[in-house]
Amino acid sequence: MKIYNTLHNKKEEFSTLEEGKVSMYVCGPTVYDYFHIGNGRTFVMTDIIRRYLEYKGYDVKYVMNLTDVDDKIIKKANEENVETSVIAERYAKAFLEDIEKLRVKRATVYPKATEHMKEMIDIVKKLEEKGIAYNAEGDVFYDVLKFNGYGKLSGKNVEDLESGARVELHEGKKNALDFSLWKKAKEGEPYWESPWGNGRPGWHLECSAMSMKHLGSTIDIHAGGNDLIFPHHENEIAQSEACCTNEFVRYWMHFGFLNINNEKMSKSLGNFFTARDILKHYSAGAVRLLFCQTHYRSPLSFSQELLDSAEKGLEKIYHLAEAIDEGLTKADENGKPGELDFSSYYSRFEDAMDDDFNTSQGAAVLFDFVKNANKLIASEENLSKEFYEKAKEFIQKTASDVFGIFDFNDLQSDGGNNLENELIQILIDLRLDAKKEKNFALADKIRDSLAGLGIMLKDGKEGTTFSKSK
Ligand code: AMP
Ligand code: ZN
Repeated sequence: MKIYNTLHNKKEEFSTLEEGKVSMYVCGPTVYDYFHIGNGRTFVMTDIIRRYLEYKGYDVKYVMNLTDVDDKIIKKANEENVETSVIAERYAKAFLEDIEKLRVKRATVYPKATEHMKEMIDIVKKLEEKGIAYNAEGDVFYDVLKFNGYGKLSGKNVEDLESGARVELHEGKKNALDFSLWKKAKEGEPYWESPWGNGRPGWHLECSAMSMKHLGSTIDIHAGGNDLIFPHHENEIAQSEACCTNEFVRYWMHFGFLNINNEKMSKSLGNFFTARDILKHYSAGAVRLLFCQTHYRSPLSFSQELLDSAEKGLEKIYHLAEAIDEGLTKADENGKPGELDFSSYYSRFEDAMDDDFNTSQGAAVLFDFVKNANKLIASEENLSKEFYEKAKEFIQKTASDVFGIFDFNDLQSDGGNNLENELIQILIDLRLDAKKEKNFALADKIRDSLAGLGIMLKDGKEGTTFSKSK
């Protein structure tokens, strides 16, 4: 299996530090607001990478940090006149709810910056002892010129960086590139005690400390959006390697942006949709499928039309899954084996995914399978039980386990809870009545409320059907 390593700007054969195990760290959100669908792309694609590593048999330890002390959190807390912890807890909770709705598997651990003050202070102490960190009256900086490898990840050299750097105004700073390890407390801001006085940690320090604490001094994979290569990840390397290890990360992975109208989706540009809002109108499966259809390193232009067509693509999988479930109840051992070469579909899927997680190619293999299996089932009446079992297993392993775009439990026929299904049907009928009376606000309210409960409605030729995403 090959992974594109930003550190060497090429695809490299993947090997792990410990046989059969992968340690993976992903830079998580700053919890000051709901996350947008651009952040969501990074969270979903790292989830798919983790799921594929698990498919390959690796035991993956997956850590995603939550930045819960930061300027943006402080600003929001001041606006609302509450403690920063109120803001951080509110949006950390919302983050966990939203990624669950996006079917992102839970990380092994979600460490929080505020719970790692000791580890962060210890790193700064070590850097200070080594003469790499310096104290400027309570603000502690990293002396970039003291670290030989500075620039190795971003491919920048220190001279060019120096000439391009905005000179940040701070009297005690020796060099414009030097960055904050510890920030002296300001009036009205949260602070922690330290050998340099009260203050709070710099953002880059958080990830060095939490990665090393939870995964050890050298890890297999560290991932994040492209915007984090410089300075965030460059600074993480400088801190961690100067302090504690020869090699901080073996494979650095970076994700392309999700763009909207050719611009990066971002909070500051105001051109964003929160994942929460998108999931009121679209299924998590469709959002994930849309992401899968573009390679993780390429930019992805987001549009609602693309989501609509992802929803249509998903319907084909639902159609097949229903036929498989039905086939399984009817078929017996004496049926025909069916002409589908399962092993070739598996090997094409794995070849795609082994090539730096080429999910768009992998999804193409899945849809090729879905098309041919649907065709075969429609034309062959007497297929064997074994055929249906194998078809179910393929969908289960690819669409469910790796891509997370579909689950057999979503099928209406999973039923069990008839009362619930009947109540949903009543709401579907009421929505239809509302539409007939041109009361679209009410019709949308019914659809959105159901979507909020993980029940997605689909309007098709034969009326409205529903699927459950939980
Ligand atoms: P933030 O909360 O802004 O620190 O972002 C959390 C994660 O989402 C980071 O890994 C970012 O690199 C990533 N990210 C931010 N904006 C986008 C975008 N438009 N497309 C893809 N990833 C993004
Ligand atoms: Zn980070």
